[in-house]
Amino acid sequence: MAVPQRRTSKTRRDKRRTHFKLEVPGMVKCEQCGELKLSHHVCKTCGTYKGREIAAK
Ligand SMILES: [Zn+2]
Repeated sequence: MAVPQRRTSKTRRDKRRTHFKLEVPGMVKCEQCGELKLSHHVCKTCGTYKGREIAAK
């Protein structure tokens, strides 16, 4: 089995982890009710998208 020849230094390990938890949720305010919602998604609170009602309340 392949085994690392050298222990990964703290700097190297931590630099690798700078990519962790950098996801942007993409939250915007709903134009209808002002609640935070995911952009390009139907608002969960009022069920509208682009001013049109999609889901029933
Ligand atoms: Zn809404």
